[in-house]
Amino acid sequence: MIGAHDGKRLIGALEAGGTKMICAIGSEDGTILERYSVPTRSPEETMPEILGWFLEHKPAALGIASFGPVDPDPASESYGHITTTPKPGWADYDLLGTIKKVLPVPMGFDTDVNGSLLGEVSYGGSRGLNDVVYITVGTGIGGGVMSGGKLLHGMLHPELGHMLMRPHPSDSYAGKCPFHGQCLEGLASGPAIEERWGLPGEKLSDRPEVWELEAYYLGQAIVNLILCLSPKRIILGGGVMHQTQLFPLIRREVSTKLNGYIRTKELSDPDSYIVAASLKDDQGILGCIKLALNAMSFQS
Ligand code: ZN
Repeated sequence: MIGAHDGKRLIGALEAGGTKMICAIGSEDGTILERYSVPTRSPEETMPEILGWFLEHKPAALGIASFGPVDPDPASESYGHITTTPKPGWADYDLLGTIKKVLPVPMGFDTDVNGSLLGEVSYGGSRGLNDVVYITVGTGIGGGVMSGGKLLHGMLHPELGHMLMRPHPSDSYAGKCPFHGQCLEGLASGPAIEERWGLPGEKLSDRPEVWELEAYYLGQAIVNLILCLSPKRIILGGGVMHQTQLFPLIRREVSTKLNGYIRTKELSDPDSYIVAASLKDDQGILGCIKLALNAMSFQS
């Protein structure tokens, strides 16, 4: 039987990242049964391997959460395309359409960060919350937004990582972003840390000034998000956030910058307001499973 395992439906997940593509098969309860990782080379090299793996595993539905920018609007002609990425070969690439041609099953599609957010609110520590911001801090910085239980898209989708920042008075670093210089990603992503300090973040754990400055920027961004979106929780994931000493620094920075202007029960408990991703870097894959389940229920 197609897409079945011990009588249960098998759900496919594709977390399409700029460095690697993670394919997985799981069950509806969020158990990941098998996974397979493919380095992201050109589409011609990468896609046949991914398609072959899914054809062999025969999922009943597939959820895709992709690096971007992407077009997440089902009414648009370029729905499911990766749009303006500088990554060679992937600009204007029809990711969803290419997979649909060979795997005709219900498919859900969204940004990588919306996928991770969906994983956390469906299977993780933020289950049941409807107003959440998820930020990943790694090679790049991106953010997903859920408002009133719906993933926010709008004209395209939020690009939280490129919000413009007020630089720290003592920081002379010009910023890493080729578009904006000193946007959040330009100042606080993993590559920005490495270029500013001359070493990758994981080799700077014992340098408090590195993390004070990192918290200054992430805290500033979170304050902007609190003021614009009024989320009930902020979840932080990605490789840089494995530096757990950042969390108390960020919470302090947020409190200092808000300066008592907003008083809510959520903000009165900073440890449960600004939290680490809870799913051990599986939040993206689990979000894909939820995207697939949503696509199935939409089509049935
Ligand atoms: Zn930027």
